[in-house]
Amino acid sequence: MINTIKNKKFVCPVCGYSELDEEPWDKELNPSWGICPSCGTHFGNYDFATTKEEITARHDILRQQWISQGMIWDKGSSEPPTNWNPREQLKNIPKQFLSPNENY
Ligand SMILES: [Zn+2]
Repeated sequence: MINTIKNKKFVCPVCGYSELDEEPWDKELNPSWGICPSCGTHFGNYDFATTKEEITARHDILRQQWISQGMIWDKGSSEPPTNWNPREQLKNIPKQFLSPNENY
């Protein structure tokens, strides 16, 4: 629960969900330990690594898995927001989190 900034929202680097209350990984590479409600990524667990590059690589793998499994909200455990569009959501991911051949 460190680095919680009131009202500021963060983008999930895996699926592009833009309403995260905590930054998934801060500048000192501390994970939030939060779970993305959209793709279900548990930051600090599913994407654990010790360098920024490795973390980005893990996010890339998780993203490809999420896409190949059909981009399901919360792994089907809850209802997605009204008019939720996972394809549009992917466009929220900052380019530095994407590999050069990725384009959403
Ligand atoms: Zn996500």
